[in-house]
Amino acid sequence: MLPAALRLLVIGWSTLGGMFPASAADLPVRSVPTRPTAPSSVPAPPVAAAVTPKATAAPVQRAVSTPRVKLPSPELRSTAKSPAASPAPATLVYIGAKEMARTLNLTPKWDPATRQLTLLDAQVTLVLERDQRETDLNGMRVFLGAPTVWRNGELAVSQIDFQRLLLPAIRPLNLSGPTPGLKVIAIDPGHGGRDTGKVNAGQKVLEKEATLDTARRLKLLLEAQGFTVVLTRSDDRFVELAERPEIATRESADLFISLHFNAVEAEATRVTGVEVYTMTPQFQLSADRRLDDHVPVFNPGNAMDPWNTVLGYHLHRALLSSLKVPDRGLKRGRYAVLRLARCPAVLIEAGFLSHDGEARRIATPQYRQEIAAAIAAGVHNYVTTVAAVRAQQAGLRKAAKK
Ligand SMILES: [Zn+2]
Repeated sequence: MLPAALRLLVIGWSTLGGMFPASAADLPVRSVPTRPTAPSSVPAPPVAAAVTPKATAAPVQRAVSTPRVKLPSPELRSTAKSPAASPAPATLVYIGAKEMARTLNLTPKWDPATRQLTLLDAQVTLVLERDQRETDLNGMRVFLGAPTVWRNGELAVSQIDFQRLLLPAIRPLNLSGPTPGLKVIAIDPGHGGRDTGKVNAGQKVLEKEATLDTARRLKLLLEAQGFTVVLTRSDDRFVELAERPEIATRESADLFISLHFNAVEAEATRVTGVEVYTMTPQFQLSADRRLDDHVPVFNPGNAMDPWNTVLGYHLHRALLSSLKVPDRGLKRGRYAVLRLARCPAVLIEAGFLSHDGEARRIATPQYRQEIAAAIAAGVHNYVTTVAAVRAQQAGLRKAAKK
C-alpha cells in the first residue's frame, strides 16, 4: 500500500499491464488552492469574439496563482516485468472526494440516497455516481475510463481520470507544460472512395458524402477565423486510416478533427444524437471495448491526453448546444486516427444515419452547415482556452522572475 498520507488507494485491477512510460504521458498539473486567494495578476483570458454563438460560449475559468504542487506522479503500481497488450494496469491509484475537491477548489456534497457526489462552485457542477463511469459535467455526459469506487468512506475516481479528464476539463488554466499550437487545423472527412461508411438507403445518404461536404463547410468557417486548414481528402477517394493522421503531421497540423456519422443496428428508430471521442488514456478502457483489441498499450496520441480532453470538451459542448440533439456523451476510443495523431485530436460522430429522421436532417445542406458552425464555435472556445493557458503561464513566469 502507499503511505496513508497520500490519501490514495491502490487496488488490484484486471491483468498485468506494462510499465508506465513516464516521459510522454506524465501530466504536470498545478493544484488549485484550498481557499480563495487574492485575485492574481495573471492577464485575463482573451474574450471570446463575435464568432462564438452565445449559447456555446464557454467561459474560461480564472485560475488562481498558486505554488506548483504536483500531484503524485506514479499513477500505477504495475508488477509487470514486460509490457503487455492489455490496456488495463495491474493496479489503479484512486483519488478520494476530499482530495478532488481540494485540488479542483470545489465544494463536495455527498448524497447517500442517490449515491452521488456533487462537486461545485458558481461555474462548475460535476456529479459523480458511485460505481459508475458516467458523470455529469456542467450538464453534459462525460464518461470516465474506470468506474468510481467507494474507498475509506468516500467516493473516489482513478487518478488517470482525474489528471487526464476531470482536471483538464474543469481547470484547464492549471495545466502546465507546453501548450499546443493554434495555426493549422486538419479536418478528416471519414471514409471515401470504395469505403462508403454508413448508408441510409431510404434517405439516400452516404456517410462518405456527408462527411466530405461537412468538412468543406467547416474548412471555410475555420479559414474565416484565420486558420490554415488542410483536408485529409478533398474528393471522393479512399484514404487508409493510418495515412490520415500522417497527412496531418506532414502538414504540421496543430489540431485534428475526424468527421463521422453513426449507425446502430438495434433500436435504430430510437437512437439519435452526437458523441465525441478522444484518445483513450493508457491503461484505461475505451467506451467500446472492441476498440481496445489488438492495439498497442501506448500510442502517440496519448502524449496529448489533457489537450485532447480540452478539445473534446469544447467540441461536444458546442455541438450539443447548437444542434439540440440527445447527448450521447464525451467518450474515449482507440480509433486509429486518434492513436496516431501527433496533435490534439477528436473524432466526432455528428448524428445517426440509422435513424430516418436524423438521416433526413443530415441529408440537408442547412443541417450540415449547422454542424460545421457548431464545430467551428467549439474550436474557437478551445483556442480561447489554450490562449488563456499560455497567458497564465507567461504571467507566472514573469512573476517568478521578479
Ligand atoms: Zn464513420
